[in-house]
Amino acid sequence: MPNFHLSDSVFRQAAEAFPTPFHLYDEAGIRARARALNKAFAWCPDFREYFAVKALPNPAILRILREEGCGLDCSSETELMLAEACGFAGEEIMFSANAMPDSEFVYARRLGAYVNLDDITHIEVLERCGSIPETVCCRFNPGGDFRIGTEIMGNPGEAKYGFTYDQLVAGLRMLKEKGAKRFGLHAFLSSNNTDTAYYPTLAALLFRTAKELSERVELPIAFINLSGGVGIPYRPDQEATDIWAVGEGVRAAYEQVFPEGGVALKTELGRWMTGPEGWLVTHAIRHKDTYRHYIGLDACAANLMRPAMYGAYHHITVVGKGDLPCDHVYDVTGCLCENNDKFAIQRALPAIDEGDLVVIHDTGAHGFSMGYNYNGRLRSAEILHREDGSFLQIRRAETPRDYFATLDSDESLQRILERME
Ligand SMILES: *Cc1c(COP(=O)(O)O)cnc(C)c1O
Repeated sequence: MPNFHLSDSVFRQAAEAFPTPFHLYDEAGIRARARALNKAFAWCPDFREYFAVKALPNPAILRILREEGCGLDCSSETELMLAEACGFAGEEIMFSANAMPDSEFVYARRLGAYVNLDDITHIEVLERCGSIPETVCCRFNPGGDFRIGTEIMGNPGEAKYGFTYDQLVAGLRMLKEKGAKRFGLHAFLSSNNTDTAYYPTLAALLFRTAKELSERVELPIAFINLSGGVGIPYRPDQEATDIWAVGEGVRAAYEQVFPEGGVALKTELGRWMTGPEGWLVTHAIRHKDTYRHYIGLDACAANLMRPAMYGAYHHITVVGKGDLPCDHVYDVTGCLCENNDKFAIQRALPAIDEGDLVVIHDTGAHGFSMGYNYNGRLRSAEILHREDGSFLQIRRAETPRDYFATLDSDESLQRILERME
């Protein structure tokens, strides 16, 4: 089930201190998750979680994760800038490459980041953009379906990422020739997967593949990067992923393939780390009864895109009404001129009145960060609920000036902005 650790009074206090909508993050919860992950993999030499910045790119959060021993997984210039600003350096940064401009490879190399190459053609790019480092990681795409038992959990054959096996053989030979001394192997084959067997199944595949490649190419393995994809229970009937069991499952696979140890492990969890520790706090501001009953919030898909984009379920609660029966059925909407701007469709909820504080759960990963400015809608503030119970605004809400910042050559707009401020 979703995370119900924060009481209604916390949401109420936050909404008294800051105008809605905003995303609220729980520092204690984020730290606890980082610690649980580190504990579950403490058996492994040189384990490190590289938090996927795209899940929650706020420097206050990244600094908390740094204090918990995490590194960062970056995939753009601005994500690298965030990493640098928060004091991450060298091998505390994983740069996951893709079809990116040369300048980003240059920046990653300048920071001394691990580079995770997405394709055999990136070897030349990397060489041109600095040099081939002694340790270099490659992303594997095994093709076909990814199954756990008989169940299909992903379709790597349709994914744009990674080297084929044959390209890995050829690519690692090239890298070795160009000075690489050891390699990492990475794959991301399933997303938001709450099955405790996901990581162990992926790990077994990567361990066997890396061992075989290492023997064929005669290049030692530096680390295996299990990437992200460990899921969270968005729905009340879903069980949380038991991260301890995940760690033990990976350990069993590790001991089979690497009985002598010596190979490090990395993860790049985003969703699992912060997803359940964020809430979008909103007010109900409108109601409407036509063919359906609608509740209009002061937030919209610009603040949380997952329901509109993926039809994703996010649990919704109404502050102070947790004990009331869910005997009303609503579509819960935002204000975009776009019909898929609905946080919930035909959801059973308690009777909602205008002015009620409505909380959307599990927005701590791929929530704020997926936000956009469609309809000229502005992105919200982000608030941290600190361990001592106080609140800290860690990002202010956007203003029209932010929205029009790239139209600074338009004098009429600038005059109106000045008048409005
Ligand atoms: C998005 C991403 C992640 C994190 O994925 P989650 O689903 O949030 O765990 C990790 N690694 C890479 C390369 C990614 O692109």
